[in-house]
Amino acid sequence: MSEINHAVKGTNDVLPTDSAKWQFVEQKMLETARLFGFREIRVPVFEHTEVFHRSVGDTTDVVQKEMYTFDDKGGRSITLRPELTAGTVRSVIENGLIYGALPVKVCYIGGCYRYEKPQAGRLREFHQFGVECFGAASAAADAEVISLAKQVLNNIGIQKISLEINSIGCPECRKAYHEALKNYFASKIDDLCDTCRDRLDRNPMRILDCKSPVCSAIAADAPVVLDYLCDDCREHFEQTKAHLNAAGIEYKVNPHIVRGLDYYTRTVFEFVSGDIGAQSTVCGGGRYDGLVSQMGGNSVPALGFAMGIERLMLVLQNQNFVFPNEKRCDLYIAAMGNNAALKATALCSSLRDAGFEAQTDICGRGLKAQMKYADKTGALFTLVLGDNELESGKAILKNMADGTQTEVILDELADKLCEIETQIALANLTDSVSNDLK
Ligand code: ATP
Ligand code: MG
Repeated sequence: MSEINHAVKGTNDVLPTDSAKWQFVEQKMLETARLFGFREIRVPVFEHTEVFHRSVGDTTDVVQKEMYTFDDKGGRSITLRPELTAGTVRSVIENGLIYGALPVKVCYIGGCYRYEKPQAGRLREFHQFGVECFGAASAAADAEVISLAKQVLNNIGIQKISLEINSIGCPECRKAYHEALKNYFASKIDDLCDTCRDRLDRNPMRILDCKSPVCSAIAADAPVVLDYLCDDCREHFEQTKAHLNAAGIEYKVNPHIVRGLDYYTRTVFEFVSGDIGAQSTVCGGGRYDGLVSQMGGNSVPALGFAMGIERLMLVLQNQNFVFPNEKRCDLYIAAMGNNAALKATALCSSLRDAGFEAQTDICGRGLKAQMKYADKTGALFTLVLGDNELESGKAILKNMADGTQTEVILDELADKLCEIETQIALANLTDSVSNDLK
């Protein structure tokens, strides 16, 4: 088959049968973020390549191996965003948000692009929901952002998810740590992969995040950064834990978490699921106090997280999550003949004005085929329009669930449908309350 019949490797379509699940999840995310005062920001899918070099870091896997970078026709080097923090930081500086009332709290949902080896939970186009908070240095902010991530996961319906936290200190306390790491890795240099050998001098912490099995085995016994924290960073970590305890959030300290991007300082965290195999991190985040000034803004502390929506979907699927029923077509109007088709168009238009999902035949099919289609789409009600109905101005509204039929005056269709659907909704509510009481 030719290329035009295939999506590019590592990309997925979300089909109409699944899009309601995505909408459910995305709505929960934005709703929950709002409870904490975070408002949506939308930034471009591509940025100047330098934005990512400067923020994500030149020695990271993302920048060294995974970016989709190209020259545009104007000769600019452009990169499809591998994550959204960099573009968000660029935007809050450029638009002056960080020079107004602090903290600035923003959230986003969007596609990300990384040239990685596609496998379960690892794609070349994937989607992240994330938040960034600018201007808050205290440990209460770390705990608030972590609580928000936890509440998003809860509100979506994710179960059995564990939180792991660590502190990777500030540039000050990291000096001694880098020395310790260099000494440790220098003694194993022959076994390290080529990329990590190159990282040893420039950024030895990146070796801790290498995915090669040999490097990760060596990294497992490396010195841990928690032992090298300065007093301020240690106190910040203690306070973060105290605030998490106060919020009733369970966590485990994992001294091996360093995160894959260079900009992190102090608190880093991950939410991990045991239900999706090797790609088990559904959410990663932390503090990045130096990034805003590094990107040309004021010295403004900041922190945030991003969660991979495809991985969340996998967790939900593997936990047999039952999504809420998608709203179905309220009424399908089957029409026989051109006059009936014109009336059906008029009726659909007024029904849609009243907020109903109304459909009628647009393929010029016969009655039988129209009814078959209505059945396939799961229409809640159907109505057949022919010459008799046009003449009398009345038709039979059929409830497809129980077969009951009600005669309706066509000009009162929207009101009647509203009345009947309300009765059904009330009856369902009464049923579910009495079931709950049983
Ligand atoms: P990993 O260690 O799995 O490569 P990462 O550290 O590169 O993850 P981040 O850059 O922190 O990931 O991105 C945040 C989240 O985005 C991840 O926890 C994951 O849920 C999701 N994610 C990252 N890369 C991919 C990908 N290639 N495909 C699908 N989801 C991804
Ligand atoms: Mg990665």
